[in-house]
Amino acid sequence: MDYLPLFFKLTKQNVLLVGGGNVALRKARLLCRSGADVTVISHHVCEELQQLLDENNGLSITGEYHAGLLEGKILTIAATDDDDLNERVHYDSVERNIPVNVVDNPKLCTFVFPAIVDRSPVVIGISSGGSAPVLARLLRARLETWIPKSYGKLASIANHFRDRVKAKFSTVDQRRIFWENVLQGQIAEKVFTGREAEATQLIEEKIAHEDPDHQTGEVYLVGGGPGDPELLTFKALRLMQQADIVLYDALVSEAVLDLCRRDADLVFVGKKRDNHTVPQEGINELLVKHAQLGKRVVRLKGGDPFIFGRGGEELETLKANNIPFQVVPGITAASACSTYSGIPLTHRNYAQSVKFVTGQLKNRTTDLNFDELVHPNQTVVFYMGLHTLPTLSQKLIEHGKPGDTPAAIVSRGTSADQKVLTGTLETLSSLQEQAQLPAPALIIVGEVVSLHENLSWFGDEVIAQNLSPVKAEH
Ligand code: SAH
Repeated sequence: MDYLPLFFKLTKQNVLLVGGGNVALRKARLLCRSGADVTVISHHVCEELQQLLDENNGLSITGEYHAGLLEGKILTIAATDDDDLNERVHYDSVERNIPVNVVDNPKLCTFVFPAIVDRSPVVIGISSGGSAPVLARLLRARLETWIPKSYGKLASIANHFRDRVKAKFSTVDQRRIFWENVLQGQIAEKVFTGREAEATQLIEEKIAHEDPDHQTGEVYLVGGGPGDPELLTFKALRLMQQADIVLYDALVSEAVLDLCRRDADLVFVGKKRDNHTVPQEGINELLVKHAQLGKRVVRLKGGDPFIFGRGGEELETLKANNIPFQVVPGITAASACSTYSGIPLTHRNYAQSVKFVTGQLKNRTTDLNFDELVHPNQTVVFYMGLHTLPTLSQKLIEHGKPGDTPAAIVSRGTSADQKVLTGTLETLSSLQEQAQLPAPALIIVGEVVSLHENLSWFGDEVIAQNLSPVKAEH
């Protein structure tokens, strides 16, 4: 580390700024924002700079720089285009142990200005040590979009309660857990959505009622999307990065899992077909147990947690145990597979509605209402239907859906090995018998499937061409 980042209190401190042009103006703005008393020395001071100084208790001296001006100053900035002068300012300052910055000349700087993300009182400084200021600025732009604007408000609210929290929670660990919960949980979310009064009220209650030895954590039920990490929401990512423990399903991709906080415990609780690793009740209990230990628990599910995800049941258990929770939507397989295969789920000419249906059939008999699924002008999407495809197709045809209705399987949607197999209700099962596309896979039935040929964009293989469609016998 070539520079140690420090934050300098400049309120009412005397700073010398050598130079009176635009570059000096930019530095003067920063100095004034931090409350410094700025003295500018230059042969000419531009109008805007003069105005800024007038408004901020500053002073401008028209004339020649001399070392005597450094008397009583605690920082010096040289912002002139005269190299000799800049060098003199540097040496004079160093001789007097005054930190000095010569703009755009890292060699003559004993301190540098970082790129700043200002969420006062929270301030982030990013520095490349003068070697690549543009890189630091690009990084700043990223942080600007990532850090909620109201972070500063959150800090002010926290400050307001600081002493009272210290009085109630006597150990550093108790306070850490308290503040982590406040600053990352439900209360912070309230501030971010502009409900500060509610947030303040919740902190009051937390201080009044919380048992310092048994602080309750929180559960985030997060939709991890179909696999491609770029399809996560910002909120999912933020919560994943503050997890103490992550309970995840088989459908959550490695790439998504990689984005969880480095030191979070990752626990697989996935279910594969006919092979239940942790029964649902066990998962519900685990969520409650870890939250009661004061942890921030992320329950990470493939796709969307409220679409064939049993998310509702998990929340009911949490609710019954008074555990606070948040739910973050994810991109569900139907959305992901449809967009990535170029099969719109609705279309003015082909489908005015879409149904998401489970293809899992209990005891090989079906509790689906097939009469409803055969209506024209609708798209039917089957989740978990790969193994029951022959039965599903047969039943749809029996109930009146034309056998030549286009149908597709989208396998491992959005991943690099996504594959799409298209055929008709009559042919799709036999095509799949030959193609053996792997799970997870989604089945789309309806006229919209015919658009795939034209709208496919994600570079998946066209598989059906090499297979011989055999009409199923019904
Ligand atoms: N909650 C999930 C669905 C869980 S049910 C969601 O909203 O997407 C599991 C079924 O989802 C699988 O059997 C499969 O039909 C479908 N599925 C999930 N991810 C998929 C993917 N990447 N590609 C194709 N189908 C997928």
